[in-house]
Amino acid sequence: MNDNKENPYTKNYMVDFCEAIDFISQQEITLQEEPVKLEKSQGRILAEDIFSSETIPPFDNSAMDGYAVNEIDLQNASDESPITLELIGLTAAGDPPASPQATKDTAWKIMTGAAVPDGYNSVIPVENTCLKEYRVRCFSKPACGAHIRSSGEDFIKGQKILAKNTLINANRIMALSSLGIASPLVYKQPKIAVFSTGKELVDDPEQALKAGQIRNSNMPYILAYLNDLPVSAFNAGTNYDDVEGYQTALQQELDKGTDIIISTGAVSMGDFDFIPQTIIKMGGEIIFHKAKIRPGKPVLFARFSNGTFYFGLPGNPISATIGLRFFVTHLIRLMHSFETEQPQSVKLSNDVTKKKGFRSILKASKQVNKNAEQVATALKGQESFKIHPLLDANGWLVLDKNIQTASQGSVVSFYPSLPKFN
Ligand code: AMP
Ligand code: MG
Repeated sequence: MNDNKENPYTKNYMVDFCEAIDFISQQEITLQEEPVKLEKSQGRILAEDIFSSETIPPFDNSAMDGYAVNEIDLQNASDESPITLELIGLTAAGDPPASPQATKDTAWKIMTGAAVPDGYNSVIPVENTCLKEYRVRCFSKPACGAHIRSSGEDFIKGQKILAKNTLINANRIMALSSLGIASPLVYKQPKIAVFSTGKELVDDPEQALKAGQIRNSNMPYILAYLNDLPVSAFNAGTNYDDVEGYQTALQQELDKGTDIIISTGAVSMGDFDFIPQTIIKMGGEIIFHKAKIRPGKPVLFARFSNGTFYFGLPGNPISATIGLRFFVTHLIRLMHSFETEQPQSVKLSNDVTKKKGFRSILKASKQVNKNAEQVATALKGQESFKIHPLLDANGWLVLDKNIQTASQGSVVSFYPSLPKFN
């Protein structure tokens, strides 16, 4: 790495992609923890191991609507020679377990989920029987234990069922609710303030554009993307290239202790690109500014002394997207103790040429072909201002900086649009 004298605010000029990831990885981060009601826990990350607080099923119960019987009584039962048992009781789901005095040659009517009365060892489904005046004709011989769901078959009390740093999703909410876990301990969601910058931007989709104006597409994208991650992101406002106004807005976020601040735009070499100077002026330390990636080169990463992280993403929509997908996401993963994300290996379905010396990150569509292979296409329209190809994209093809061409059929790296957090 060279110190770049022309960029006094750039400590590490033009880092490689991997160096940038390493700089982020070196940050010390601790997220606080909080209990959260189970019904609000979807998408949160566990800050504790979870142990089964109960044995499930808690009692032996019937898997069918039928009759609790003793298998020995029906040993010779068949379609041709049914055996008749005396009906002596009924248990519905939710009833307490019954304890009949004697069960030999008797049957006990039982519903799915009801506790099997003491003294019976099998259930014969109602379909294999015929009931007439408290006499149950049984046309089959159940195996011992047939149609009984035994206590503890699903969960054993004390067993570890989920590890710390696991995402709570709908599957896991099913398990946690079956165990009566009301408020798992999770990491507090990092608060992320998102700013856009640019005098040309119009936020209101219903407002007609004047000459020179464009619509703000970065802000809705970033908020939508972050909405699927374990963070709490909010629109901190659009700055119309007003440096003083930005300092005030930034100071407010620093005072609030916002965990991460993201801005788009004003981070390159233009006359109105005020982000780097502003960060320096406000006491932030720029950890890297500019990475050897395409698109997205001008990306900036900084930290303030209160611990707030700052990502200055370039304004071009695809450059902003890439900074968010690869750098901001890496920090969010790190905060939750997730490993550095590894790419998927896919077959390239078209030839790609790129500039040497830069890691290329390409809008891509991955499909499964008729040979069940994962195949990805680098989409047409890779320029960083072109949003249209995103409509067909479901991820990013990543080609290493030393590569100049990648041919159809070669194996390359692919990252899905949304990172996995499970
Ligand atoms: P900048 O990085 O500020 O020089 O902006 C680079 C390009 O991205 C310019 O063409 C901007 O108009 C465009 N741009 C900046 N911010 C946004 C945004 N929020 N939404 C859409 N385009 C943007
Ligand atoms: Mg700008």
